[in-house]
Amino acid sequence: NLSSGLVGLANVGKSTFFQAITKSTLGNPANYPFATIEPEKSLVVVPSIKLDHYQKLFGSEKKLSSNLTIWDIAGLTRNASSGAGLGNKFLADIRQVDGIFQVVRGFRDDEIVHIEDNKVDPVRDLMIVNDELILKDLEFIEVGIEKVNKLFKRPNANKAEIELELKTLEKIQDLLYDGQKVINEPWSAEEIDIINSYNLLTAKPTVYLLNVNEEDYKSQSNEFLSQIQEWMEENSPQDELVIFSAQYETKLNESGNSEDSAIPRIVERMRDALHLISFYTCGPKEARQWTVRVGSTAPEAAGVIHTDLQKTFISALVYKWDDLKSEKAPFNEAGLKSSGKQHRHGKKYAVEDGDVLLVKAAG
Ligand code: GDP
Repeated sequence: NLSSGLVGLANVGKSTFFQAITKSTLGNPANYPFATIEPEKSLVVVPSIKLDHYQKLFGSEKKLSSNLTIWDIAGLTRNASSGAGLGNKFLADIRQVDGIFQVVRGFRDDEIVHIEDNKVDPVRDLMIVNDELILKDLEFIEVGIEKVNKLFKRPNANKAEIELELKTLEKIQDLLYDGQKVINEPWSAEEIDIINSYNLLTAKPTVYLLNVNEEDYKSQSNEFLSQIQEWMEENSPQDELVIFSAQYETKLNESGNSEDSAIPRIVERMRDALHLISFYTCGPKEARQWTVRVGSTAPEAAGVIHTDLQKTFISALVYKWDDLKSEKAPFNEAGLKSSGKQHRHGKKYAVEDGDVLLVKAAG
């Protein structure tokens, strides 16, 4: 199960937003740095119009959504990589997550101190965080290179394998020295295996969350936007930016109106960044959304439903979203079958987003 972490400098609106996503309305987050010290976990529903449609189509009593796990990771500062502030704990926590939400302050408010020279400057903030992550990765890589060099001296060392690892690490080192993130570079499958084993911070996809005031959120504009986009183009080209307002999300929560909320879009962007898709199982009791990685096979998807199902998998009946989206209840299996919209697939079938699956297994 993949998870994401919410990070950002202190006082950028992280706690406010985290409370909005957990729908907790217990007081206001303190207006001082490091209000959050322990990572906290929140499960956010993955929005799906498909699930709503399937529940109606199959007449299911209830629906069960997939979740995205979001960890609130305590604030970092300049020099986090050398252990200042909460740096080391922050870095240990961020290593655990698969994707990063980075909250960036784009709102002006004289009442809310900015920990960096008390000046709102999102690009500077992006650079501070980026530099810290790059420095930390450089440290991991240097330790790695040392270790791999020692492996060479072992009598039964697999020289070719070690050489590839060393070359990859050196390539990463050069990239990081250039100020680039690991994720910015196209890598071969072999290199990716090595990179994954190091759990590097700059190899994780990032969704940037620009925290703006209510007016800016409603118009989806902000005085810093073009500067930020320019910076991202150079330093984080594959990552995405979502404009939101932590304060407005809190307001929406309090009024019980979630229609204008940015949270569904934020969750979707992270799902995309992590290459996650949804498939569904539907029956009279429940319509349920499940999560797999893009490219997962039908047996792998079955294994998400139940571990045993992966081994005992025989075939799957599959309905496509495009074929079901205009169907109306009651679910007409015979009609769909006769019009060629019910497909039987074997072990090699790669599940697609929106598929409804009925798994046939042995035993
Ligand atoms: P954190 O340190 O990043 O977790 O930041 P907090 O969520 O604690 O926010 C710091 C302060 O900024 C709090 O007093 C919030 O009420 C305030 N704040 C957060 N988001 C906004 C916003 O969108 N607009 C304004 N004006 N203030 C905000």
